[in-house]
Amino acid sequence: MNNGHNPYSPIKTEVIDMIVETPMIKTLKLKPQEPIAFAAGQFVELTIPGVGEAPFTPSSRPSVNDMLYLTIMKVGAVTEAVHRLEKGDTVGLRGPLGKGYPIDLFKDKEILVVGGGCGFAPLRSLMYTLFERSGEFKKLLFRGGCKSAKELLYKHELEQWGEKPDLDIRLTVDVGDASWKGHVGVVTDILDPIGMDCQNGIAIVCGPAMMMKFATAKLSEMGFQDPNIYLSMERNMSCAIGKCGHCRIGLYYACHDGPVLSYDKIKGFRDVWA
Ligand SMILES: Cc1cc2nc3c(=O)[nH]c(=O)nc-3n(C[C@H](O)[C@H](O)[C@H](O)COP(=O)(O)OP(=O)(O)OC[C@H]3O[C@@H](n4cnc5c(N)ncnc54)[C@H](O)[C@@H]3O)c2cc1C
Repeated sequence: MNNGHNPYSPIKTEVIDMIVETPMIKTLKLKPQEPIAFAAGQFVELTIPGVGEAPFTPSSRPSVNDMLYLTIMKVGAVTEAVHRLEKGDTVGLRGPLGKGYPIDLFKDKEILVVGGGCGFAPLRSLMYTLFERSGEFKKLLFRGGCKSAKELLYKHELEQWGEKPDLDIRLTVDVGDASWKGHVGVVTDILDPIGMDCQNGIAIVCGPAMMMKFATAKLSEMGFQDPNIYLSMERNMSCAIGKCGHCRIGLYYACHDGPVLSYDKIKGFRDVWA
């Protein structure tokens, strides 16, 4: 990150495109003036001049670092300003920040990736990496859920993933409609039976806090070991470099020790699912 420079100083970045994903979610295609070499699960701080800064995990391929994509849900001041951006606008980026997925530890393992809603964004970046290294893992499964078919991110890409022989994928929506031919129900409904060696398998969960809470409980019940359950922890952040303590979870700073943390590290602390 910004070697030799002020860690708070953003890299000038051009908005190349804005892709409408769902009524509340857009993907920004961004070209930073300097490449940002991130690993899946790491995040960046995005500055909207005159408005503020907020953390986002790239949803794009980590092996491409001169261009990156952020998939952003509109929830407040910064994200609303993001949704008003246009092609050619200038924003700032600092990063990559934090720790991503320890993919080398997943070698020769069976991997289950569980996503909910906007959690598909960091997971897309992870899946690209897992696809690129697919020969290294025993099995790869993806289970994803969102509120409704119209809120499903990356529809066309998910269809292509469905054709991959080395991926076992199932999706669900909370509320079905005429356009949806798949499962209806919450994501925990499609976790079991899973057809993998849960005792020795890796589980990766990213999504809204409540979804992560219930998915983690279900994974534990299925036999996954706490150190093998990896969670992407979202917290309000300020400095994003392990100084200010805004994002503390017990002994850990989500920005510096995470955002990807294994469940054994944080399960005993209060407000894990805050
Ligand atoms: C490491 C990390 C990666 C993230 N990646 C993504 C991503 O890829 N896509 C995406 O859409 N969002 C992501 N988020 C969440 C995003 O940072 C917040 O939605 C954003 O900070 C909200 O800013 P705002 O000014 O629009 O909202 P605000 O006006 O600050 O707040 C609006 C509401 O959102 C809550 N909120 C604010 N910040 C956060 C936060 N960091 N986590 C949870 N709730 C928050 C506030 O408590 C309030 O209820 C990520 C967060 C973290 C920490």
